[in-house]
Amino acid sequence: MTRVDSALNLTRDADLRRRATKVIPGGMWGHMNVARLPPGYPQYFSQARDCRVWDVDGNEYVDMMCSFGPIILGHADPDAENAAAQQRSRGDTMTGPAECQVELAELLVDTLPHADWALFAKNGTDATTSCVTIARATTQRRKILVAKGSYHGAVPWCSPSLAGVTAEDRAHILTFEYNDVESLDRAAREAGSDLAAVLVTAFRHDARRDQEMPSAAFALAARRVCDNAEAALILDDVRAGFRIDMRGSWEPLGVRPDLSAWSKAIANGYPLAAITGNDRFREAAQQVYLTGSFWCEASPMAAAIATINKLKATNAIAVMEASGRRLREGLAEQARRHGLSLKQTGPVQMPQILFEDDRDFALGNQFVLETLRRGAYMHPWHNMFLSTAHGFKEIDRVLEATDGALKVVARSMGR
Ligand SMILES: *Cc1c(COP(=O)(O)O)cnc(C)c1O
Repeated sequence: MTRVDSALNLTRDADLRRRATKVIPGGMWGHMNVARLPPGYPQYFSQARDCRVWDVDGNEYVDMMCSFGPIILGHADPDAENAAAQQRSRGDTMTGPAECQVELAELLVDTLPHADWALFAKNGTDATTSCVTIARATTQRRKILVAKGSYHGAVPWCSPSLAGVTAEDRAHILTFEYNDVESLDRAAREAGSDLAAVLVTAFRHDARRDQEMPSAAFALAARRVCDNAEAALILDDVRAGFRIDMRGSWEPLGVRPDLSAWSKAIANGYPLAAITGNDRFREAAQQVYLTGSFWCEASPMAAAIATINKLKATNAIAVMEASGRRLREGLAEQARRHGLSLKQTGPVQMPQILFEDDRDFALGNQFVLETLRRGAYMHPWHNMFLSTAHGFKEIDRVLEATDGALKVVARSMGR
């Protein structure tokens, strides 16, 4: 299992990448483009099971990314797969929705205290964009407050790249600093009587920086700003949803959103997003034209029902937290032993692991490449994700890889 002395064989991967550059702009797009990672990562995968993935050259890794969030019960979880397969065998993208659409809406309304209704779409971007539109339709106002650097999707009003984006696309988006009540109040004053919504992520999980949990004061202030202005508090739970709290990620803070956006882990890898809301926003949710050719696809909804029920029945969040804690404590001990300063931030089940004073992620890049060679797929600057398939045994395999990797990093620093 432990491969230490040689670089990975990635010949098949290299061949696919060569072919791709001719027919796909840049060879790959978006967040999964490994050109964003240090050279040495595979781009193409052939198989995935529980917490493991295999690249097209047959190299096996413990997957610490979980497909950037969608996998929460492990790859190819039998319960989610059976539910999807059974539904697919009867009908999937049909001329109208299947029964399971109503069942899933009922399950979400039962599970999420803030929700009186649910709607379904495909991507997290569909969900956040729909929440913004529903908030504007209800309030008849335009301004949306978002935290600087928070990711809400990949369309002009919120994309991190400004290529092809006009000033008009962003005309009514005002920003504040996450966890900074004063800057939130300032942005709300600027929006004045035109404030439609405050849009926040469950915690600060921006790439390339330490994560931050929301302070209670900040969450309460977001609720207060919206209440005072009769605006919508929109919780973007696309990334954290079902990993922090089954009732919604701000429920432990005692702050309920008006609208929530869900996707990623909701159907254990099947394409599905949900928009949930309370009764004040029901009428607008009905008036806004929300649809897509594949939005009523039934098998992802069946997978979502199986996924949510299994997460509840197995106390999944506590399981992921226990594994996450083992990883965090193990890494902290290794870092101390090797004389390195690691910053481990955010919830243990969604860890961000950065090196102190690591300009351009030079140490982080070296670290993840060394862990990759030792059979653990980690990310140098994006938060990672655990699933319930990451048991202690698998975490210990990762820790074996990180110990070897940290030793190499320490040696290269002369420690
Ligand atoms: C991933 C993500 C989105 C966008 O979801 P897609 O399914 O990629 O469109 C929106 N908000 C947050 C917080 C996300 O992590």
